[in-house]
Amino acid sequence: MTFLGMAKPTAGTARPAAPPPATPPVRRRTAVRAAVLPLAIGAVAVLGSCSAPAAAPPVPSGTASSAADGSRADGPAEDGPVVLTTFSVLASLVEEIAGDRVEVLSLTKPGVEIHGYEPTPSDLVRLSEASMVLDNGLGLERWFEQFTETLDAERVVLSAGVEPIDIAQGEYSGRPNPHAWMAPSAAALYADNAAAALSRLSPEDAGYFRANAERLKEELDALVDDAAARLPDDAALVTCEGAFSYLARDLGLREHSLWPVNSDVEGTPRQIEAQIEFVRANDVPAVFCESTVDDGAQRHVAEATGAELAGPLYVDSISPPDGPVPDFVSLLRHDLELITDALGTEARP
Ligand SMILES: [Zn+2]
Repeated sequence: MTFLGMAKPTAGTARPAAPPPATPPVRRRTAVRAAVLPLAIGAVAVLGSCSAPAAAPPVPSGTASSAADGSRADGPAEDGPVVLTTFSVLASLVEEIAGDRVEVLSLTKPGVEIHGYEPTPSDLVRLSEASMVLDNGLGLERWFEQFTETLDAERVVLSAGVEPIDIAQGEYSGRPNPHAWMAPSAAALYADNAAAALSRLSPEDAGYFRANAERLKEELDALVDDAAARLPDDAALVTCEGAFSYLARDLGLREHSLWPVNSDVEGTPRQIEAQIEFVRANDVPAVFCESTVDDGAQRHVAEATGAELAGPLYVDSISPPDGPVPDFVSLLRHDLELITDALGTEARP
């Protein structure tokens, strides 16, 4: 995918190619378009609570990277369809399906806090130019809802069909937990929804999108099956944000978090005390925090209980291209390795 002002992933960060399905997907990153996107119109973007680094100059066109299997193809035509997603994790997931047939953009950059994001003037321009807009749904992108009625492009909710897990505590209690992409069982629906949506944009590539979706689902299933086999039945996943309910369900883990969803109320003394009690009562060997939030409260829990502070886990954002999780599958693989290393009973080979 392309982020305004972000460098592209290099071949060195691409993961190994999976065995080719019937219609071999071309595993490469799409080229950065020459004009990238218009800059903000006469306004300085206010990023609110975002913690993204300042934008660097746009990357020139023609810098498409080769995939690990050596494949390389020209990018989509300048007038080809462009789909816009709301955040980097979705962009990477959809890019797995789109391959080199449709360009995929993310509205927000890696590292941005997506729950409390404040759209910029340039975001509105990008939304108006997209051929299709794909968001997570499940109440995640409240900041995006104000634009959906005026969109010219089709809007696709990638979580459609997911059986929601409700948030159990706090101000959002009873609402769906939005982090369904973290569980392969639910991400499979995202992949199917993306393949169906992209096929409406480019019907001649429907078989290609479907094959990519099947390959992605198999890859995710293998990751979670491998992790589940190495985790004890009674393991507990203790995090900062309650963002792992779906993944914990797939892994057969119990889940406990400091706060339910990233918001203004994070790491209160009461939340810390409850977490400490849970860690002590369940003899939890390691606790985690996520890449987009401050880990101070969890550090306090670790110090008070003697548990290891492992991590950070990635959930709401992939890393920049030169970071540890430059795409969706590497994010899940990274998190599962951290979790199994800290909570598993078997040493990694
Ligand atoms: Zn989150």
